[in-house]
Amino acid sequence: MKTPSEYGFTTAILHNDRRKPIEHGSIHKPIHTSVTFAYQDARELASVFQGKTPGFRYGRQGNPTVAALEDKITRMEDGLSSICFATGMAAIGALSQALLRDGDHIVSSAFLFGNTSSMWQTLSGQGVELTFVDATDVAHVAAAITPATRMVFVETIANPRTQIADLEKIGALCRERGLLFVVDNTMTSPYLFRPKTVGAGLIVNALTKSIGGHGHALAGSLTDSGLFDWTRFPNIFDNYKKQPPAQWGMVQIRAKALRDFGASLGPEAAHHIAVGAETMALRIERECSNALALARMLEADDRVAAVHYPGLASHPQHHIASKLFRAYGGLLSFELKDGIDCFDYLNRLQLGILASNLGDTRTLVIPVAHTIFYEIGAAKRAEMGIAESLIRVSVGIEDTEDLLNDFAQAFAD
Ligand SMILES: *Cc1c(COP(=O)(O)O)cnc(C)c1O
Repeated sequence: MKTPSEYGFTTAILHNDRRKPIEHGSIHKPIHTSVTFAYQDARELASVFQGKTPGFRYGRQGNPTVAALEDKITRMEDGLSSICFATGMAAIGALSQALLRDGDHIVSSAFLFGNTSSMWQTLSGQGVELTFVDATDVAHVAAAITPATRMVFVETIANPRTQIADLEKIGALCRERGLLFVVDNTMTSPYLFRPKTVGAGLIVNALTKSIGGHGHALAGSLTDSGLFDWTRFPNIFDNYKKQPPAQWGMVQIRAKALRDFGASLGPEAAHHIAVGAETMALRIERECSNALALARMLEADDRVAAVHYPGLASHPQHHIASKLFRAYGGLLSFELKDGIDCFDYLNRLQLGILASNLGDTRTLVIPVAHTIFYEIGAAKRAEMGIAESLIRVSVGIEDTEDLLNDFAQAFAD
């Protein structure tokens, strides 16, 4: 058989589990619900505890079903190793909990998933300093770096306004300065983009979104791309330097964020995500082609004030998206002209479901300023370019014509 990297994206995912022995020739990795894992020999038990022999100990630190999913994510991202968490937020929390200390500084994109932004605010009250920058221009990132900077954090395509970070240049800057570059790849997914190609050291994925895809399980992951030199990172405890340096970061994250903090993913959710992942390329292709068609239709409509979608030539970072991403993603947002009430428009949709979440098979719509960005207030919304009428659409896999018809009919009173 060929090695996994010689196969295409979907083939590799479909056949990944079978590369390791599975009981009874099972095609899927079974769901292991055991909380603890026993050994016949006391010395072997001790050796597993001491990290000398690979093996499972207690479900909080790892589980065979979750490990099979971690393996798939690592393959998708072409990384060194991955750790799964209970949610995408748990993965981001894990990163900060395990790697940052009092006095450290983060340079973060200002265009962020709302809860990540809120988490950074919590950290800034706990001794970690944050600088938020417009990461669409590397110059802003470079200007914010201080001797205390420990990481630069960006998303690929920001939600809901779809700004794209200056990914290649920020990657080059971090490499030059020896800084850990963390990329939240949720909006693109490893199918559309691999952050390793622009020098990311750690990659975040909210598996809840496109990778699971069916909106029925929460999960998140961190992947070590293998590019970052952990010997240059001052916050690794001596305890976690027993393995080769390439593993230091993930060894510390597994110990601090899973063992100590307990943000662990359960085996049933891991199984749901793994099954969803098998069809992600097919779903994402349909979502992207639907989103492009919808964005073009809305842009041509004179009742629409603005459409934000990286696939449109009018998008400020269209050239970056065209160069780096396989397609332009399933998320778009648009603003209605004055006189059209966004609540009335949304209420007339028959197919667009009034709900948050992204990357679902079904099209989901939400009035951004009045829901997910309500808590931050009008001043911050204006600063982030979020209009009061902004509607976010997470485009699903419905038949294109049905979807376009629905968004067109919703203009009529
Ligand atoms: C949804 C999302 C998260 C958080 O994932 P959850 O699984 O909902 O906790 C993090 N980052 C981005 C970009 C997201 O869209």
